[in-house]
Amino acid sequence: MSSSAVTRLSKSRIVAGLQCERRLWLSTYQRDAMETTPGSQAVLDAGNDVGDLARELYGPGLLIGHVENMSKALAETAAALQGRGKRKTLYEAAFQYQDVLVRADVLKPVPGGYDLIEVKSSTSVKDYHLVDCAIQAWVIQNTGITLRRVHLAHIDTAFVYGGDGDYSGLLVTEDITAEVADLTKQVPTWVRTFQNVLRGKEPSITTGEQCSKPFDCPFFEHCRSQEPQGPKYPVTILKRSAALTRALLDEGYMDLRKVPAERLTNPVHQRIHAASVTGRPFLDPAAAEHLDGLGFPRYYLDFETINFAIPRWADTRPYQHVPFQWSCQIEQRDGSLKEHAFLDLSGEDPTRNFAESLLRTLGKRGPILVYNQSFEAGRVKELATWFPDMADTLLALIERMVDLLPITREHYYHPAMLGSWSIKSILPTIAPELNYNELDDVADGGQAQLAYLEAIHPETPIDRRAALDTALRRYCGRDTIAMVRLLQALAGR
Ligand code: SF4
Repeated sequence: MSSSAVTRLSKSRIVAGLQCERRLWLSTYQRDAMETTPGSQAVLDAGNDVGDLARELYGPGLLIGHVENMSKALAETAAALQGRGKRKTLYEAAFQYQDVLVRADVLKPVPGGYDLIEVKSSTSVKDYHLVDCAIQAWVIQNTGITLRRVHLAHIDTAFVYGGDGDYSGLLVTEDITAEVADLTKQVPTWVRTFQNVLRGKEPSITTGEQCSKPFDCPFFEHCRSQEPQGPKYPVTILKRSAALTRALLDEGYMDLRKVPAERLTNPVHQRIHAASVTGRPFLDPAAAEHLDGLGFPRYYLDFETINFAIPRWADTRPYQHVPFQWSCQIEQRDGSLKEHAFLDLSGEDPTRNFAESLLRTLGKRGPILVYNQSFEAGRVKELATWFPDMADTLLALIERMVDLLPITREHYYHPAMLGSWSIKSILPTIAPELNYNELDDVADGGQAQLAYLEAIHPETPIDRRAALDTALRRYCGRDTIAMVRLLQALAGR
């Protein structure tokens, strides 16, 4: 490999280097150590979809192709910029300066130069977007192009899709010329620093706060696997208490069991600490008092949703959670259980059928047990606004909801939960045989969303769609059966 190829940077590598120099080095030399999660894949896919749509919204222009061949992309860009006649808007124009390569989402001709528009699928301008644009502006200007203004186009969450493919108004454009001009002065230093990093050995940086700020680093498992195993119960399991955790770490406490009990004043922290020290689970008998009074039949309910950056169905907003699946276990007084379910993989708007089938199954009375009520109740409220004819009966469901999350957080903890009250952390401690790991294709909410997207894709073969249907039903059903077992455990049964 030539030294120029070794030290060649792109804007994404510079952004990676600003997060962590080891991330820059790994993303250049050890890409196979990178892990793609369903969440990170979904973000990438959303970015590509929004980029494609932006080209429609910004009108006709020349798309510089050659995604895999930068030399051809550079040559095509240069030819387009030097050509005579009316200047065109350029999409994905490629530029290089001092071994830094960038591609500009939109370069729009204006009197005296060009406007640069960077398109993002996020819902506001972030600091790292300014960095991203500053790198582009520095490269483009140094190739002799005059940039008049720099804009960032991002999604407007207030946009409501009216249908018929009309997405005008989905993107809102903010002028960030001044902020970018300030940052551009720092780019030469970043370039020199990171080219030196790439000439050297893998930086010996250990995992820390930088691994999730501003992005979850895809090399986390790789780096973590090379570090000595930490304590079984690290102080970081005290979630939602960054200041306390930081203070304890600064004082040299790595192992929660070594922290004096009197340092913890929050009752939940005290419970986690006591269970970690003793190795014994905590179950408060008062939980049974909350639950024994619940009538029958009992409905254990869970929703799965999809949230498109670009709304697919009329009357929905960007990133709105639109429900496409529910599972419900109905428990009778004699302990018998029956599962009911709804899943729409047609690709059409699932909401009306979702709401109607839900109302049919849940009837008029009996407690509806959910885990984290704000999610299910939020979706039911949205259904009520979309379907006024069902609004009263839908809203009546919320009155019947019983949230198992706060009851569990208040009354149950097992050391193996490691500070998490997610249903997936609890289930192995009360019903180890119901393991999410044994589920194929879909074992968490992120995978359920990807499975749904794959299933509704017109080119997905019928047998694959059938397999995804089964996997989604098993997954959502596992969530509701987990709630049944949780209630039994809380009630001491
Ligand atoms: S996991 Fe952390 S230490 Fe490792 S490369 Fe990423 S940010 Fe750097």
